[in-house]
Amino acid sequence: RHALEKKRRQELHNTLMELRGNIRVHGRIRPLMEFDVENEDITSLGKPGSRSEVVVHYVDDENICVRTNKHNKVFEYERVYNSTEKQEAIFDEVQPMLTSLLDGYNVSIMAYGQTGSGKTHTMLGSHRNDDYNPSHDPHPDEGVIPRATRELFRLIEEKPVGTHSLEVSVVEVYNNDIKDLLSRDPNAKHDVVTGGDGQLSIPTVTSKPVDNVDSVMTLVQLGLKTRKESATLVHEHSSRSHLIVTLTVTTKAPSFFAKSFAAEPEGNTSISKKGVVGNLQTTNQQPVVRTKLQLVDLAGSECVGMSGVKGAALREASNINKSLSALADVLGALAEHRTHVPYRNSRLTHFLQDSIGGDAKLLILLCVSPAQRYITESLQCLGFGQRARQVQRGPTKRRLPSSAEKVAPENTQSRPNSATR
Ligand code: ADP
Ligand code: MG
Repeated sequence: RHALEKKRRQELHNTLMELRGNIRVHGRIRPLMEFDVENEDITSLGKPGSRSEVVVHYVDDENICVRTNKHNKVFEYERVYNSTEKQEAIFDEVQPMLTSLLDGYNVSIMAYGQTGSGKTHTMLGSHRNDDYNPSHDPHPDEGVIPRATRELFRLIEEKPVGTHSLEVSVVEVYNNDIKDLLSRDPNAKHDVVTGGDGQLSIPTVTSKPVDNVDSVMTLVQLGLKTRKESATLVHEHSSRSHLIVTLTVTTKAPSFFAKSFAAEPEGNTSISKKGVVGNLQTTNQQPVVRTKLQLVDLAGSECVGMSGVKGAALREASNINKSLSALADVLGALAEHRTHVPYRNSRLTHFLQDSIGGDAKLLILLCVSPAQRYITESLQCLGFGQRARQVQRGPTKRRLPSSAEKVAPENTQSRPNSATR
């Protein structure tokens, strides 16, 4: 009965995805923190007109209201979390995406917001600290990355032994350069390349096989340490670069799928042409499908005032602005069904290309502070999310039938992919 219930939930999720397109946007308001009231006169704390006044309000599960001095502005998303909502609540919405991942879709989950808005808290939670002890897992405060990883391994355990294997890579995109945080030489240059099968990858980046959540999180923490140590110039380096954890799932295709594929006249050619999301290859005569889960803690989205910023800081600021506006441009192009989607304008969007476009499923978690002092940044962030929500694409069909649901491969229809894929 439990399985039936779960299947129904998954079906509902898929239907919602089809109705709303593959991009979902959630908003999370963090609680008022001590640093929000810094340098504030004690007599005016939280009072109307003060910088610590709470102006970003949770209205209901789908609406956020921002009180500006002129009017109230309401933003609607698929889901809104109030400041007391637990990490667990966010994960509830992520869970069905992992089932999709094993069904052959690429998935990405990214946290967007200004520095201090709760992105790292949302993505990593308790695992952000160097001294975090994994023996306390699962920690109630752990974020999306450990939770998603744990659930992924749980789902894989339900599958026949040996059909799924996982690899992890941890990179940062800093000043439009990709840095391999699992390498001894994190400053070496890397580039995104398109393989013969049309799938994007960074072949020079370290990718480690993993078989449990602890080994993934140990690698993520190693990456965070490398990131901290390799940061030369800048204080608060973490908010100046994008962190991307990529879990690649290799699935040995079910035999019926393999048979139908072998019957294809073109054989083992471009996946995107066929509309199959995963990366289908043959190793030792057995076809495998590769799908990716990309978990992203984006750089701070504060509109950096260019005046007074010089040298390295200016270079960083303009690179962050460029990559985040490249992301906005990609989402905009998808929303308008433009034939050219400008993925190549930044390494960030280039690397994320096949987990943003086409059939991939993207969840954007907007993180905002409730305080008046950040209202400009919060409005920018909520506006970005609102525009991203307009991304609507045609209905999608599953490409790799789940074991619970053996759809004959010839019944699945392909949908045209965006021209650049
Ligand atoms: P960012 O990564 O966006 O710069 P952080 O995740 O570091 O922001 O959050 C800033 C501070 O606020 C941290 O101390 C974090 O623990 C705290 N914080 C953020 N969101 C929440 C939340 N939902 N509940 C409790 N504390 C939070
Ligand atoms: Mg952070």
